[in-house]
Amino acid sequence: MSVTSHDPGPYAGVGPQSEFNPYEAMLDRFEQAAKRLKLDPGVYDILKSTDRELTVSVPCLMDDGSYRVFRGYRVQHNLAVGPAKGGIRFAPDVTLDEVRALAAWMTWKCAVVGVPFGGAKGGVVCDPKALSIGEVERITRRYTAAIMDIIGPERDVPAPDVNTNEQVMAWIMDTYSMHVRHTVTAVVTGKPVGLGGSLGRREATGRGVLFVLREAAKVRNLDLTNAKVVVQGFGNVGGIGAELIHAEGAKIVGVSDIEGGIHCEAGLDIPKLIEWSKEHGSVVGFPGADAVGKEEIVELPCDVLVPAATENVIRQSNADQVKASIIVEGANGPTTARADEILQEKGVFVVPDILANAGGVTVSYLEWVQDRMGYFWEEDEVNRRLGIVMRRAFHEVHEMAEKHDVGMRIAAYMLGIDRVATFMSKRGIYA
Ligand code: GLU
Repeated sequence: MSVTSHDPGPYAGVGPQSEFNPYEAMLDRFEQAAKRLKLDPGVYDILKSTDRELTVSVPCLMDDGSYRVFRGYRVQHNLAVGPAKGGIRFAPDVTLDEVRALAAWMTWKCAVVGVPFGGAKGGVVCDPKALSIGEVERITRRYTAAIMDIIGPERDVPAPDVNTNEQVMAWIMDTYSMHVRHTVTAVVTGKPVGLGGSLGRREATGRGVLFVLREAAKVRNLDLTNAKVVVQGFGNVGGIGAELIHAEGAKIVGVSDIEGGIHCEAGLDIPKLIEWSKEHGSVVGFPGADAVGKEEIVELPCDVLVPAATENVIRQSNADQVKASIIVEGANGPTTARADEILQEKGVFVVPDILANAGGVTVSYLEWVQDRMGYFWEEDEVNRRLGIVMRRAFHEVHEMAEKHDVGMRIAAYMLGIDRVATFMSKRGIYA
């Protein structure tokens, strides 16, 4: 038997003050927004820190008979508004600072769309590509057992995120249910349809991206049917986002995934590209398209750029090369704080992550509601409600931006922070 522990990931070497530390990136914007809101110093201190951070050891029996120990995190940032909510990611470079940032982003995101949840996030440091399905299942179940005391439908409700999916949610739901001795579907969202999942949940983040893109195009007088769009990331958010934006009539001229990027000035046939990517495991090599580097993809000429993978893809070193006039952030934290300033100076209209990708958690909320009432809506009903929420949130953020003469990102933070702060001060601080 051999025991291997995992390395701490690439953020570890870059230091807490680095441009690439996601928690620093979150705090930078939080401070800007708090200053403009003239936030009470006590409330500021509470909202700046995370409510609870759990680090767990996740031992797993590997297929070859050895044991490996993985590291898992669940961070709850704030629970003033309701149960904590947020995804779980499985990735080799997950760090505690990243999970902290993602948890805080969930707090602001839920508040921006008016969903009655607090913010949380989880992560397991592992590389699912190098694991068998059985190993992923055992890691998931053991991680669930380890965080069992702090999750639950009224406490903290996980969901899919990078490299986790409906199957992983089904295992979490089953493990939790086995422990409490009855089926509790509302403990996670993003479950398979038929197992307490909601119709439209899988597509919700991508559909939300389309809904806010429509509104942004109106504000910037861009005709979407003539627009050129580049999508960075081709997973659940980028893939479905690209499909829906393509169906809207826009030309998707560039797409990338973890293996590389492709470019086609005439526009890519997205339904065919989805088939290709399923068959070949990547968009790379798609016939009729030119190869482009992963780094180059954000610099391609286009009207709209949709970063839909992970953090820090638009940074100080490349922000000036961005050609798009609208950025819709399907990913969490794709733009660094230093890049924000450059984009703002260039006049790029950025629909920030905590608004642009909030379609996922919005339909998670609708799933949780359906689970709790034991009655499920048709997909049209789910999409209709999602549309109402996303359009309203977009215009509330836009009004805030106009009123305070700030960019959409700081406006979204201001809206979210103000709502949570109001909630907290009405409840009072229990002492
Ligand atoms: N992981 C998604 C996000 O970052 C969804 C979270 C949820 O539905 O709870 O927004």
